[in-house]
Amino acid sequence: MKIKTFVFNPFQLNTFVVYDDSKSAIIIDAGNSNESENAELFDYISEENLTIEGLYYTHAHVDHIIGNNAIITKYGIKAYASIHSDLFFDNAEGHAKSLGFSLDNLIKPETTIKDGDTVKFGNSSLKVIYAPGHADGSICFYSKDDMFIIVGDVLFRESIGRTDLPTGDFDLLARSIIDKLYVLPSGVKVLSGHGPSTTIGHEKTNNPFVSISEQL
Ligand SMILES: [Zn+2]
Repeated sequence: MKIKTFVFNPFQLNTFVVYDDSKSAIIIDAGNSNESENAELFDYISEENLTIEGLYYTHAHVDHIIGNNAIITKYGIKAYASIHSDLFFDNAEGHAKSLGFSLDNLIKPETTIKDGDTVKFGNSSLKVIYAPGHADGSICFYSKDDMFIIVGDVLFRESIGRTDLPTGDFDLLARSIIDKLYVLPSGVKVLSGHGPSTTIGHEKTNNPFVSISEQL
């Protein structure tokens, strides 16, 4: 699999295009927030000749879904999110306004994805890992074969997702990180919703909030 990362919107959100040799692709998180960001994303997809099969959300915070309508309309695809994220999508417009965004054109996704599901496209598949604590409905997308995991705002390089927003819970987030992520091989590359990538091994020993030596 190949992964192209775009950094979009004032929250510096990482939007990922994941694809393989078949040229089938999925988009994970929709940070694109204006015409020039839309063009950057769409131009890359057409230059690479990719066929977009679906849009997936790591969770429903507004910086991750702001570009939903542009992507869904452009490619005629469906969007998918965790079964635990209905509440966020029902309240997304209000949340967006409080952050200075307009989300009037939100297209509600299929909120059907569960822990252990497999997302398939082309010749590739990603395993869904449910990891609540930053926001209910937080899911990660893991490739065992290609040794990477896309984690949204669960884990960052030497940091973790904030837990002061609705449904945020530090103890729950720490459990998710320890029980769901730190059990993966150390060499697995971690692609976060914001900032640079890291590895499971680096975070297990260097993360100042949740390290494996001080289990909660
Ligand atoms: Zn978030």
